[in-house]
Amino acid sequence: MTVLALLLAMVMLLWAGVLLAFAGPLVARWREPVLRHPVLIVESDDWGAGPLSQADALIRLSGLLQRIRDRNGRPAVMTLGIVLEVPDGARIAASRFTEYHALTLADERFEAVRMAMQAGIEAGVFAPQLHGQCHYWPPALLATARKEAAVRDWLAAPEPAATEALPSPLQSRWVDASDLPSRALPTAAIEQAVAVETATYRAVLGRLPQVAVATTFIWSEAVEAAWARSGIDVVVTPGQRATCRDAAGRPGCVDASMLSGERSRAGQTYLVRDVYFEPTLGHTPQRLADGLKTRTRQGRACLVETHRFNFLLAADASLAVLEAGLNAALAACPNVRFLTPLELAHAIEKRDPAWIEGRLRRRLAVWRVRLDEVPRFRRMARLSGLALPLAWLGRSA
Ligand SMILES: [Zn+2]
Repeated sequence: MTVLALLLAMVMLLWAGVLLAFAGPLVARWREPVLRHPVLIVESDDWGAGPLSQADALIRLSGLLQRIRDRNGRPAVMTLGIVLEVPDGARIAASRFTEYHALTLADERFEAVRMAMQAGIEAGVFAPQLHGQCHYWPPALLATARKEAAVRDWLAAPEPAATEALPSPLQSRWVDASDLPSRALPTAAIEQAVAVETATYRAVLGRLPQVAVATTFIWSEAVEAAWARSGIDVVVTPGQRATCRDAAGRPGCVDASMLSGERSRAGQTYLVRDVYFEPTLGHTPQRLADGLKTRTRQGRACLVETHRFNFLLAADASLAVLEAGLNAALAACPNVRFLTPLELAHAIEKRDPAWIEGRLRRRLAVWRVRLDEVPRFRRMARLSGLALPLAWLGRSA
């Protein structure tokens, strides 16, 4: 009897040790809100100043989204990550790449693009959010143009250029990647740039942005603070914050990780988008359905990342894959709801009982599922036998 009690005490101690060792990620996943319904949001970046063929792509996307409805009759929602200017290459070249000049989305040549966006916003299928004044840091673009012919040629293109064709490090707005590893920007420059981009956004879209998503997912706490001062209260993330480009040009210097519903130091609500869906890269419709099913089991919203290039380069095929993907998601989770990121963030902030689960049993079951993603925890739980009581939690929903 005493031996048995001793063994039991040892097992309990071992489990307590494992739980303590992983306390940080375990507690974070317990505190992360559990959604009561499947939620699907398609996030689509890079729209705005740029190729004029966007107008037709947006009109077709709007029609497609309006045909797909959730149970409440609400059409599918796609965010538009808005870029507010492209370089005026001819004028920059005339200055021998010493002066930066831009064409903003307010320019009359982009009228059809603006109208297509606006029509989709009014139809309830497009939710605009700030991607950036431009998809690069202008001084870094100029510095690179002075030394690299490919970037000079890109600037000299007659049509408003597609920034997707720039070298990837240069597409990051919030670092100077003219040399690698990149350098951080002065805080004063960030603050001024954010003031300009939020004012431009308001001039074009009629209101200040409330949601921001950094280009190439590289940003910093200084950027968040400047966004907060301009009224941005939701930040879309990939679950971590990379703050530089490393010597090889890859995103690096990760200084924070986050779950949906956590707050930035400046007070914003973070959302995580982590399902990648780029039809031109071969992603199939099933990917949307699988992403939604997995996030639903985790009590999370499924935020899908896609980009305009899919709908400009191979529009027919990409639209067909998107429509099939949305229909597959609806078939997989018939109770799915379409929401905007702002609505989702507000539901999380208010702990709205219509959206956020309060029942202990379901919260425990979802927590158990979330633990599988904590690196090394699953193995430790199995080795220590802790997996057994955790599996019981999972069954209890
Ligand atoms: Zn982008």
